Amino acid sequence: MALDKLTGDTSMLFIKSEQFFDWARARSLWYLAFGIACCSLEGLIAASGPRFDFDRHGVFFRGVPRQADVLITAGTVNYKMAEIVTRLYEQMPDPKWVISMGACSNTGGPFREYPNVFLGVDELVPVDIYIPGCPPRPESVQYAFLELREKIYAQTGERLEARRING
Ligand code: SF4
Repeated sequence: MALDKLTGDTSMLFIKSEQFFDWARARSLWYLAFGIACCSLEGLIAASGPRFDFDRHGVFFRGVPRQADVLITAGTVNYKMAEIVTRLYEQMPDPKWVISMGACSNTGGPFREYPNVFLGVDELVPVDIYIPGCPPRPESVQYAFLELREKIYAQTGERLEARRING
């Protein structure tokens, strides 16, 4: 039985446990090793190296979507890739987050004139954080994870407030 059924969803025990789980999630964000175009090499693979040391933030890459919390859409999303991006997102367990990386993923970038390119990956999956640039620096990717962490902390309060209002 879920804890909120046992103790009530306004109990201190339940609220503290929710806050603890979100704190743990925010500090172990595992992203899917998946790249679409040059952004994945220029920013994401460089970011995974020892120089930037993402491990200290609890950020690691995983090879399968079922073990990943974060999908980073790094590159130009065209119609051919749409099904793959959507399928990978759906295979990830909840809760999950999406970081759109680079001008192409955000808006189509330099390829937005082409008829087979999406003008933003948010047409396919819900995006939590956008990283600007072409290509973004690894530091930008790092900053995006720190922002995502803050967003998860903020969502804890919103989620608990919504439960209180909805009873
Ligand atoms: S934003 Fe620039 S670096 Fe990234 S995929 Fe597009 S063209 Fe390549």
